[in-house]
Amino acid sequence: MDYTYDDQNIFAKILRSEIPNDTVLETEYALAFNDIGPQAPVHVLVIPKGPYVSYDHFALAASDAEILGYTRAIGEVCRIVGVQDNGFRMISNAGQDGVQEVPHLHVHILGGRMMGRMVQKPA
Ligand code: 5GP
Repeated sequence: MDYTYDDQNIFAKILRSEIPNDTVLETEYALAFNDIGPQAPVHVLVIPKGPYVSYDHFALAASDAEILGYTRAIGEVCRIVGVQDNGFRMISNAGQDGVQEVPHLHVHILGGRMMGRMVQKPA
């Protein structure tokens, strides 16, 4: 797996404040913001501040403090957007088969409606 990080990806530019975002939460280790093309009433992206391509990259290479800080931020975002009671779906796409568009680790937190089946085959 090639974990080479492209620092020109859109989320890297958001982290450098080169393009704006609708912030839900910012911590030392994470930034959470609303997805520009929401697929559900709640659709928040949570990204680590470090240069990680995907969840497996992060899980293998990040420090304990980064993993803890990122994971806690995800929990805090769920509390902020109020999806704990009715539930939510958390997705992290990786690579070609995962159909990852932006090569900086992000989890999607989707909620506010019934999310349907977990995975669909492409049409
Ligand atoms: P992926 O397919 O990589 O898992 O998801 C990338 C997500 O990033 C998509 O849901 C897309 O709508 C979102 N996205 C792409 N560009 C931007 C942007 O400039 N701002 C925000 N807030 N979201 C973006």
